[in-house]
Amino acid sequence: MAVDPYAWIEQSLATIHRADWYRSVQTINGDPGATVLLEGREVINFASNDYLGLAGDWRLIAAATAAIQEYGTGSTGSRLLSGHRKLHCELEEAIASLKQTEDALVFSSGYLANLGTITALVGKRDLILADQYNHSSLKNGAILSGATIIEFPHCDVCALKSELQRVRQNYRRCLIVTDSVFSMDGDLCPLPALLELAEEFSCMLLVDEAHATGVLGKTGAGCVEHFGCTGRQLIQIGTMSKALGSLGGYVAANATLIDFLRNRASTWIYTTALSPADAAAALAAIHVVQQEPQRHTQLWQNVAQLKELMQKYLPNQRLLPSESPILCLQLPSAADALKVGQYLKSAGIFAPAIRPPTVPTSRIRISVMATHEAAHIEKLIQSLHSWFEKL
Ligand code: PMP
Repeated sequence: MAVDPYAWIEQSLATIHRADWYRSVQTINGDPGATVLLEGREVINFASNDYLGLAGDWRLIAAATAAIQEYGTGSTGSRLLSGHRKLHCELEEAIASLKQTEDALVFSSGYLANLGTITALVGKRDLILADQYNHSSLKNGAILSGATIIEFPHCDVCALKSELQRVRQNYRRCLIVTDSVFSMDGDLCPLPALLELAEEFSCMLLVDEAHATGVLGKTGAGCVEHFGCTGRQLIQIGTMSKALGSLGGYVAANATLIDFLRNRASTWIYTTALSPADAAAALAAIHVVQQEPQRHTQLWQNVAQLKELMQKYLPNQRLLPSESPILCLQLPSAADALKVGQYLKSAGIFAPAIRPPTVPTSRIRISVMATHEAAHIEKLIQSLHSWFEKL
């Protein structure tokens, strides 16, 4: 009898279960806010990327509703065919103005922006130097490009420099690729040093600002602004799905590069344009970011409160180094992380366990929002404190 060619899938799933690596979805209902309904129960939400609390903001909802009424729900085709609307241009201008770049290009997601940009910029004769903790979209974009990939140890500028000295001359083009805020750790890439190396070794530099846009920098422009690198030659990628409370990705760079991507980025050319509602919501969000700096201030006050309470009440726990609203409590094993996550959930707190293979070590990932109240943060700390006391 022929062997079932699909049987390996069940075995593979069983292995995932045995390693405590099995992933499952959890249903959230109602408004996406600082508290949410998780499987019917109200919990404090420390799992959201909606850092500024804009995903449920009435101005974004009104803008999306008006766009649907004017343009309908779908964009009906790719940007180069029937999908382009004035809204896309307005959004691209707003992104370029926030980032202070010559131009920007909007993709249907951040993941697609990374895949499309990397594959357009480098190919078989080229080199990609990538931080080992880069997001999956950067890793897969690199693989898809066919370029030679060398990963350097996380944020290790010396290791990157020695790789450049060793191999740069063997390749036509070189692209250095990094997250700006590392999404599963919360730390920042050493951007000024990376820019220096890029200039010294004639490399392009691509920085993924997904978790930095709206969050870092005086005006919320991101890590590039935070490090005083605005206006330098580099390629900024990001998403509208986190602090901007909507959906879609973008690339912000000089006009020539953007023009080139319009002609070469296959995940832009061959996919349906971002929906009018998503584009309108993201545009409204950028206006809020620019007009309401107090949201940004509140976010950082909340981060400071959480860090201070952690130090005071959980001094023996290992908090990974972070300069962002993502704070990770490291735990010895995946099983431990799952237990803490479950305990928090039973205490009315949603802070997920993140485990291998997503990250090298297991942890509880805490994501702070501007709309968290002091009491939310205190409750998280009390719950964590009582868990570790019990141990
Ligand atoms: N880059 C990073 C660093 C991310 O964390 C994410 C989302 N998890 C993406 C890119 C992809 O963005 P999007 O959700 O818009 O596809």
